[in-house]
Amino acid sequence: MNADRKLISEEEIRLMVSRVAQQINDDYGDEPVIVICILTGAFIFTADLVRELDMPVTVDFMKVSSYEGDTSTGRLNVIKDLSCDIRDKNVIIVEDIVDTGNTLFRLRKMLADRGPKSLRICTAFDKPSRRVADIEPDYNGITVPDEFIVGYGLDYNELYRNIKDIRIIGD
Ligand code: 5GP
Ligand code: MG
Repeated sequence: MNADRKLISEEEIRLMVSRVAQQINDDYGDEPVIVICILTGAFIFTADLVRELDMPVTVDFMKVSSYEGDTSTGRLNVIKDLSCDIRDKNVIIVEDIVDTGNTLFRLRKMLADRGPKSLRICTAFDKPSRRVADIEPDYNGITVPDEFIVGYGLDYNELYRNIKDIRIIGD
């Protein structure tokens, strides 16, 4: 396995973060926001994004995994839950990439049941060609083709998260 094929440059990522942050700043104004970083993949995007946000921001973390092959019952395994109460708060879920959308579909429902004032989804990368669940990110960084990408927080077997640009895994 290697990660030699570059897909997205550091500069493109930097511009993407600025654009997405600008959209969020425009939408929320001075309203406080809770940013929920979905571990582990979204940690770098979240760190870059929150530093471009102008409103009062709090950051919390959640780690989940989906039981695959069980989409009908929609079970979500919560490995680490939030530390804060999101009731009546503006919440933005920050993901690394939306693929089938199954994970976010279940997570969104779980968090919506806690009664936030608003709940939106922000993703660094989107792979809409693979979508199964009814999920449309409110803020989408860069749409990617149906390839397995690594870097900028995204891993292959926990490796490559520290690569600064986005690459495609190959043989
Ligand atoms: P979904 O439930 O949308 O199918 O799964 C989303 C999760 O699968 C992402 O949060 C990410 O962890 C993983 N994933 C999906 N596509 C890719 C990809 O191209 N590269 C990496 N590294 N992870 C991916
Ligand atoms: Mg993930």
